[in-house]
Amino acid sequence: MAVATYRMSIAGQELDAASGRTFESLNPYTGQPWASAPDGDAADVDRAVAAARAALDGPWGAMTGAGRARLMRRLGDILTRDAEQLAAFETRDNGKLLREMSGQMAYLPEWLYYFSGLADKLEGSAIPSDRPNFLVYTRHEPVGVVGAIVPWNSPLLLMAWKLAPALAAGCTFVVKPSDHTPISTLEFAARVREAGFPDGVFNVVTGYGPAVGQALAAHPGVDKVAFTGSTETGIKVGHAAVDHLARFSLELGGKSAQVVFADADLEAAANGVIAGVFAATGQTCMAGSRLLVQDSVHDELVRLVVDRARTIRLGDPMLPDTEMGPLANAPQFEKVLGYVRAAQEDGATLAHGGQPDPALGGYFVPPTVVTDARPDMRVVAEEVFGPVLAVMRFSSEDEAVAQANGTRYGLAASVWTKDVHRAHRVAHRLRAGTVWVNAYRVVAPNVPFGGVQMSGIGRENGIGAVRDYTETKAVWVELTGATRDPFTLG
Ligand code: NAD
Repeated sequence: MAVATYRMSIAGQELDAASGRTFESLNPYTGQPWASAPDGDAADVDRAVAAARAALDGPWGAMTGAGRARLMRRLGDILTRDAEQLAAFETRDNGKLLREMSGQMAYLPEWLYYFSGLADKLEGSAIPSDRPNFLVYTRHEPVGVVGAIVPWNSPLLLMAWKLAPALAAGCTFVVKPSDHTPISTLEFAARVREAGFPDGVFNVVTGYGPAVGQALAAHPGVDKVAFTGSTETGIKVGHAAVDHLARFSLELGGKSAQVVFADADLEAAANGVIAGVFAATGQTCMAGSRLLVQDSVHDELVRLVVDRARTIRLGDPMLPDTEMGPLANAPQFEKVLGYVRAAQEDGATLAHGGQPDPALGGYFVPPTVVTDARPDMRVVAEEVFGPVLAVMRFSSEDEAVAQANGTRYGLAASVWTKDVHRAHRVAHRLRAGTVWVNAYRVVAPNVPFGGVQMSGIGRENGIGAVRDYTETKAVWVELTGATRDPFTLG
């Protein structure tokens, strides 16, 4: 298959990297390059940030909230029209199921529609002043140029979680997609141009993390850094942002617990466990990779999960009946198998999976269930980012909560029980940014999402997200025109 050539998008132009270098994007299913993109560096970040600043100081900055909302809705319509095409680009880049990416792409425009509705509602307040000669009011102004850095697992959706509130707030945007998945973001840029956004509002710089990502986070012209990715990289990005006092938000990794009590609907719980850890081949930040089960139903639930895991169809992610695709790249494949080996060395029991099927080749790891796991094992303590479920047992509610909270992460969790009192009680005690009750892996534009502890700082989505892309300004207006004593405050 011929390799398609892409260029980055800066100031409404398609450009090569200043260095002229390119890199190839591999299709994880075939292992073959299918597209090439510019291999950018700090010089390209400079160009993109300058373009974003010019748009902010120019036509975009002058536009009303209603005007921004109109463009956002138009972009939402174009993305709806092209959802299937965009999904295919994402699947070629990251190997996830076409049906999952199609679902994501069909839903993505909702972020633009939801936040477009807030673009003209950034209302300040008039503050009753204790000085009668003053009118005091606040304005919510755009924070400025946003530098977004996103991972490979859901490139466009995770970018939209940042872009939609940023546009609603009146910011401009420079995004660096993962070097594993640069293409869908470049295709997205073409749709932004088609929608008629002023040049420089949306810019894409492709390339590698240490070159482009680091330069973007550290750039003095970037006012806010919005990052999604691993905890390790997020900490570096946070440091780079703090060094020039840029605002920052970090959506990081997780080790989320699914807590199943004996009174739960076990069929439903097994289904939720499968969805939580094997969907997307386990490559989601919110993967429910720890299963905590009450003693009396442990064996039955494990049997249900393993029985279903046995029937999961691995194969070509483009085919409609495939249920699990390959892992996204070779390092990820090696890393996941390393965790399975570590679990066995640490004394866990391999209840299912673990060994790649030589007939499949590629980066396929089968759905894997590890029982007799303990909190000190690496497979329990660390994020695997693959289809590996670690099962532990508990006897009491207190023990369940202690086990679930016994992690440095805190992105998500679930509680499976029919007892409504326990459901809320445990949901309140779990240390996580999201808790699902008798469900897993549901998100929406109007519901806040984000982590505590090592899973991140800040929340995306929800009505509050747009405020995170603004700065509050207080305006004091003297009403009398009288001359005041210059040496008295106020
Ligand atoms: P990663 O941290 O390796 O890379 C994320 C992005 O950062 C990429 O664009 C990468 O090129 C860039 N990058 C790498 N080094 C950099 C540096 N020194 N400075 C600046 N940028 C740099 O993560 P990944 O492997 O692409 O994605 C998987 C991780 O993302 C997992 O840990 C997963 O849990 C996390 N994730 C979190 C969420 C969430 O919402 N909390 C969602 C999806 C994925």
